[in-house]
Amino acid sequence: GDMPLARREEASRTAFDEAKQYIPGGVNSPVRAFKSVGLTPIYVDRGEGSRIYDIDGNSFIDYVCSWGPLIMGHAHPEVVRALQETVVKGTSFGAPTLLETEMAKTVVERVPSVDIVRMVNSGTEATMSAIRLARGYTGRSKILKFEGSYHGHADSLLIKAGSGVATLGLPDSPGVPEGVAANTITVPYNDLDAVKIAFERYGNELAAVIVEPIAGNMGVVLPQPGFLEGLRKVTTGYGALLIFDEVMTGFRVNRSCAQGLFGITPDLTCFGKVIGGGLPVGAYGGRREIMEQIAPTGPIYQAGTLSGNPLAMAAGLTTLRLLTPEVYDRLELLGARLEAGLKRNAQELGIPLTINRVGSMVCPFFTAGPVTDFDTARTSDLERFRRYFGGMLNQGISVPPSQFEGMFVSGVHSEQDIDDTIEGHYKALKAL
Ligand code: PMP
Repeated sequence: GDMPLARREEASRTAFDEAKQYIPGGVNSPVRAFKSVGLTPIYVDRGEGSRIYDIDGNSFIDYVCSWGPLIMGHAHPEVVRALQETVVKGTSFGAPTLLETEMAKTVVERVPSVDIVRMVNSGTEATMSAIRLARGYTGRSKILKFEGSYHGHADSLLIKAGSGVATLGLPDSPGVPEGVAANTITVPYNDLDAVKIAFERYGNELAAVIVEPIAGNMGVVLPQPGFLEGLRKVTTGYGALLIFDEVMTGFRVNRSCAQGLFGITPDLTCFGKVIGGGLPVGAYGGRREIMEQIAPTGPIYQAGTLSGNPLAMAAGLTTLRLLTPEVYDRLELLGARLEAGLKRNAQELGIPLTINRVGSMVCPFFTAGPVTDFDTARTSDLERFRRYFGGMLNQGISVPPSQFEGMFVSGVHSEQDIDDTIEGHYKALKAL
């Protein structure tokens, strides 16, 4: 197809300069500033389907999709209609609504490990609350997480974190008290032996293991065969909880999430992104006996003025209803088509590229690979990534501005979108 050869950016640059006077770094979440790729961020005017349109008049095939929530694309007509119908009835009540029960029922029906679920407002709140619950339930203080995994920005989880923390190359964040950090044990992803050693040392102090069942914040990294099974076994053996952070993978990789794909039953699961259909949402759920330790049934406190917000429930429920088995088949097909094209390009041009993919989560690493954990992800040529990212923008393709994030294909990307992307990718690689 016809694609713009270079983007205009005057309006975005002016907007960014002004924003920097009033907002830290001009942005409300660090990766949006395009700092590590050294470019001016795109100021989005609107999105429609697989595309975003910026204030300079450029359009892009979008593989950020709001970092995951928009699995059915931008401004899906049914999501928009559900929001319109809901908004005229009022935006928030701080009292229960039927929509919340419908949402909870939908999650419980699709995810067998979840007996009961509590809605919150972000993925960060979901993981933070699940950790508190795990500590309260077990009476233990320590948690184990994996290097390069990102579980939101709660203090105890900002240790050796991935996502924007990795993108900006920041050490563990200032502001996290030593006492908190000391309770977070980190080991490499996919390293079951390291997990076992940690449990031999700290076993009776560990409240939980929290894991992305498919890592998505060191780029996309698949769990090796036996890894998740091993985590299930070790945690059960020591009386610790297994928490799956499915904020990114939840309802994206499978109707019953990554746990359904791999057949593992965690004790608690965190959700976000897709479950809110593009509105601010998170959720955590799991075994009834554990979940009922939270207030008001139990003593562990967690609350939220806007939790279960009707607009968020409407957008999320509509999105979940759109996710039929046919849509998951289509996501797999489109993801595979994209992966094959990117691979072919790299081979033809002799550029070392490792592509990790699960369904519609696609991640090309600039390394010969394989990429199995954060250390191997970091063997990527970040300077090459930086130039590739700018090249893709110039081809009218929006990919995440970080080597440590995956691309998200949506159910409304067309075959033509994928083929145009492969063609643009070829040109961007060739220009490196
Ligand atoms: N967990 C995972 C696996 C995530 O990918 C993210 C966000 N990228 C979060 C937690 C945090 O979610 P939020 O940004 O909504 O707080």
